[in-house]
Amino acid sequence: MPRVNVAALLRSAPGTSRTVPISLADLPIADDLALAGPVEGSVRLSRTGRSILLRGEVETSLLIPCSRCLVPSPMPVTAAIDEEALPSIDIDSGLPVDASEEPEAFRIDDHHEIDLDEVVREAVSLAEPLVPLCRPGCRGLCAECGVNLNDDPEHRHAGDGIDPRLAALADLRDRLD
Ligand SMILES: [Zn+2]
Ligand SMILES: [Zn+2]
Repeated sequence: MPRVNVAALLRSAPGTSRTVPISLADLPIADDLALAGPVEGSVRLSRTGRSILLRGEVETSLLIPCSRCLVPSPMPVTAAIDEEALPSIDIDSGLPVDASEEPEAFRIDDHHEIDLDEVVREAVSLAEPLVPLCRPGCRGLCAECGVNLNDDPEHRHAGDGIDPRLAALADLRDRLD
């Protein structure tokens, strides 16, 4: 994705905004997090008195291990973009801005460009689903041998896998009935 030049926006009055479409076929996210599909969405860039605010939303899918069967599966996610980019160069004077007061701030680079890949990467990495499932009602893994029960729904162990202590309880329950 090309970097977005915001020189014109930096010269406009606070409140001025423009919307930039986002469409990425692929984007490295993190060592342990990969995309399973393209990123599509848009971001609105708004001039404030001191910065450019970036607000928007992208949709994609991530390759995430299922929380029950552990098979990496594509999980759709919607990621909110909410970032503030501060200038590194004063747009009027052309002089470097003193960045020492806010060293952690996200910066517009010294060509007045914003790296949207970085913005999207940040948003997507925070958008992981809390309880990823490869499918509704995933059967997970057999607690006894670890086999994937989705591949083998009839999977059983001798004694139906009932713990002897539970078997005694089941016995008691049957007698009470
Ligand atoms: Zn699963
Ligand atoms: Zn088993």
